[in-house]
Amino acid sequence: DQPKPFVSIPDNFDGYALDSFCIPKHYEDSLERILLPHGIIMDRVAKMARDIVSDLEYEPLTCLCILKGGHQFFADLVDRIKMLNESGPLSLPLRIDFIRAKSYEDDHSTGKVQIIGGDNMESIRGRNVLIVEDMIDTGNTMVKLLATLREYEPKTLRVASLFVKRTPLSNGYKPHCTSDRPSNTYPTRASPLLPLLMSTAFLDTGFEVPNHFVVGYALDYNEYFRDLPHVAILNDTGKEKYKM
Ligand code: 5GP
Repeated sequence: DQPKPFVSIPDNFDGYALDSFCIPKHYEDSLERILLPHGIIMDRVAKMARDIVSDLEYEPLTCLCILKGGHQFFADLVDRIKMLNESGPLSLPLRIDFIRAKSYEDDHSTGKVQIIGGDNMESIRGRNVLIVEDMIDTGNTMVKLLATLREYEPKTLRVASLFVKRTPLSNGYKPHCTSDRPSNTYPTRASPLLPLLMSTAFLDTGFEVPNHFVVGYALDYNEYFRDLPHVAILNDTGKEKYKM
């Protein structure tokens, strides 16, 4: 599979004023700017669904939702795949499963990843698996998850991440690095497994975003803001108000 184009939001992108869109009253004092309105996200999700279905050539697919932040993206992506199934001449049989990965406290990555729940992962053996994640930041969660899932020998592993953050803390798991990047250029913090994981787990990206802590569209700050439809940048009031 060839890397697919994704939308890159530049560092100097100002976003949109809060009063340009409808936002819940209870969050008005806690947000800086809107980075991505809900409608743009939905349009991008529709294209990601189309790319995934056409690459898979209608082979059965197991979609694995990474809770909790990935739930909205997962629901909308699976909805779009179902719509393509209903309208096209061919269709792709779908299975779904859910696991939880937790790495953040307040707005800091704790550096540790907990994987919780899910069916017996034996169910992915020999199957095409699509991991559906909200955000790749340092890449640590994904590298750990991919290494774990590979042990169950799925037929193919593919990752759909709505966001990938441009961060100096990246471990090197990022889009467009699947085949054109020699392994000796991976950051020194990278897992030794990274080149293997990159070459075997294709990454579909919705948006590459600047190094801000963002919330909304199911991405949270200490469990708040999941009910915000747009993706927005948290301000200092919000960080203080909803601190653990
Ligand atoms: P990583 O292991 O790649 O550093 O972090 C992945 C997880 O951290 C994501 O799945 C997401 O839950 C959380 N995360 C990373 N950046 C952000 C952010 O800007 N906002 C929110 N709400 N969560 C984030």
